[in-house]
Amino acid sequence: MAVRMTVGLVLLVAAFVIAGRRLWWLGRLARAGQPAPDRIEAVRKHPGWDVTTEATEVLGQRKLLKWTVPGVAHALTFWGFTILLLTIIESYGALFSRTFSLPWLGHWAFIGFVEDLFAVGVLAGIITFTVIRLRADPHREGRGSRFFGSHTRAAWLVLGMIFLVIVTLLLYRGAQINTGVFPYPHGAFASQIVGHWLAPLGYGVNSVLEATFILCQVGVVLVFLVVVVYSKHLHIFLAPVNVLFSRRPNALRGLEPMRSGGKVLDFEEADPDTDVFGLGKIEDLSWKGLLDLATCTECGRCQSQCPAWATGKPLSPKQVILDLRDHAFAKAPWLLAASDAERDKLPDAAKAAAERPLVGKDGGVIDPDVIWSCTNCGACVEECPVDIEHIDHIDGIRRYQVLIESAFPIEAAGMLKNLENKGDPWGMGEARRAEWIGELDFDVPVVGGKIPDGIEYLFWVGCAGALEDRARKTTKAIATLLHTAGVKFAVLGPAETCTGDPARRIGNEFVFSMLAQQNIETLNEAGARTIVASCPHCFNTIANEYPQLGGNYEVIHHTQLLARLVEQGRLTPAGRIEEKVTYHDPCFLGRHNKVFSPPRRIMENVPGIEAAEMHRCKNRGFCCGAGGARMWMEERIGKRINTERIEEALALSPDTISTACPYCLVMLGDAISAKKGSGEAKDTLEVVDVAQLLVRSVRPEDAHAAEQPATANEE
Ligand code: SF4
Ligand code: SF4
Repeated sequence: MAVRMTVGLVLLVAAFVIAGRRLWWLGRLARAGQPAPDRIEAVRKHPGWDVTTEATEVLGQRKLLKWTVPGVAHALTFWGFTILLLTIIESYGALFSRTFSLPWLGHWAFIGFVEDLFAVGVLAGIITFTVIRLRADPHREGRGSRFFGSHTRAAWLVLGMIFLVIVTLLLYRGAQINTGVFPYPHGAFASQIVGHWLAPLGYGVNSVLEATFILCQVGVVLVFLVVVVYSKHLHIFLAPVNVLFSRRPNALRGLEPMRSGGKVLDFEEADPDTDVFGLGKIEDLSWKGLLDLATCTECGRCQSQCPAWATGKPLSPKQVILDLRDHAFAKAPWLLAASDAERDKLPDAAKAAAERPLVGKDGGVIDPDVIWSCTNCGACVEECPVDIEHIDHIDGIRRYQVLIESAFPIEAAGMLKNLENKGDPWGMGEARRAEWIGELDFDVPVVGGKIPDGIEYLFWVGCAGALEDRARKTTKAIATLLHTAGVKFAVLGPAETCTGDPARRIGNEFVFSMLAQQNIETLNEAGARTIVASCPHCFNTIANEYPQLGGNYEVIHHTQLLARLVEQGRLTPAGRIEEKVTYHDPCFLGRHNKVFSPPRRIMENVPGIEAAEMHRCKNRGFCCGAGGARMWMEERIGKRINTERIEEALALSPDTISTACPYCLVMLGDAISAKKGSGEAKDTLEVVDVAQLLVRSVRPEDAHAAEQPATANEE
């Protein structure tokens, strides 16, 4: 007994010292990052929200369970280990007293049953994980495996350790039954089965097995504790903390404002020598950003949904997080050194890590092609079970590259210059923003100061909606439908300027804030309250990013308004459209802002339409390739994202592809043209906005006129 106690105590102290040192070191590393007072304030202000999130995300395993088989396996393991904390206490107590039992609960058969039930559940979970890992072996499946790039050896080691935890548990409990010291009279069904197998060995052997496997159980659990804090399984401790301090409701929708030292950066007062401009060094991440890196479970769910990765580009959101994490750990001795003298004494590896650029083709932590491949589609953020904020990190790196290094894809320079000088990405100028109105047979009021009384909605047309041929058809269809429904609306016309979305997403926060402030001033002067936007990027920016600059408006997307008008009977889609239509979810409308049903409801109300869903739809929709300012960059690496998407649509043999975004309209339209050229798509196949389908049904006589290309743009 004394030996058992001594060994148990030595193991316990050793494990807690090693694990504690590691956690202390991780805490110091996190504090080397920028402050994030906003995250602490959010937790303080909304404790109820935090309880709900922890209950659904952590205890309820909500995101994990979206993937049924691995989700159930993970839930069994998570809940199993939570319950098995009781058996860990029991095994440790048995080191000190053979007849130890849990106070109050220790002889209740139900507890014995629950413990065994969850032990078997954990076993089932890890067998499932083993099968999943064997089937998705990255050595065999290559990039197609979500584990490609993950540390698979560490994962196998941990699976083996969990197996040993359960096996030693059942063995010592089985032996305890045979030696008469097992606390539960019945109920522990799995332990009883093992006890039945061991019974023929007799009391003496069972006593030895009992002592041995109790020590093994304690030893395995304590070694497991150490392995956890040194591996990706650190998420066991960090995930609840990371979820607690994550953005509300998530890191989709708007981008974070630029912060330096925890405060939102004011460009007029900012000092490039002392302020932080995006992420130029790993320590420019906030402590929450560094926590993100340490929390990654390497599950690869983000990678499996990333359109850039799926089309052969070098960007994997998982790999970005892992590369940043490895770099943070490598640079940690330098970051944590107390003085320059201490830094001078560091090993060469730590000094080299300190000098390594965050972005660079030769020796950079992240290859430039990685950060410029991102479409900001949000699939990674949506899937991540531990609420890692990939887009903020990628766009943070872009901000530094653009604002400090002036290093970005050269073809996007024209777009930025046009935004600064002309207020739209094509440089067509404000005078042409109201041209589309002249192509309608009714008048659309253009606000020239205050919005007149009686106007219900300010229609935010957007640059594409006003200036790009295909998107102008959508604009005219929306205007025609609003006019038909008797909705009083007005537009800003030449007073509208780009919302700044492409500038912000490429990383030029300076141009974004210039455009945004100009628009907010215009909107406030006009007294705008309710805005209907046709472009999901405008919709997202005005609704979710303008509040950061003091612009607060009620913003809806045109599909939301049109669906409502149809359901209120103010629009009657009577004309039949005998077509098979598949709807493509724009990322900034669907995944970012959760507007999935209005476009579908509109189509359901149009008689004759046969709706067909693509495999990747709604939350799992696949990007068109244009977001994140990719619309203005060449796509030189891998397969084109719009081609991949169109091939998925073509597999359904649709007559029409519908969408609700001018970017998607252009990208999918281009891909269809290429497919028609190669004979892979029928000549009649077209991509249209849902509003165009609706106007064809509501006012078939006007649909033709509304869809004529703009005369000015034809020239
Ligand atoms: S936002 Fe989309 S493209 Fe960018 S890393 Fe995430 S999944 Fe990939
Ligand atoms: S970032 Fe999130 S989804 Fe991606 S591998 Fe890490 S834990 Fe999994």
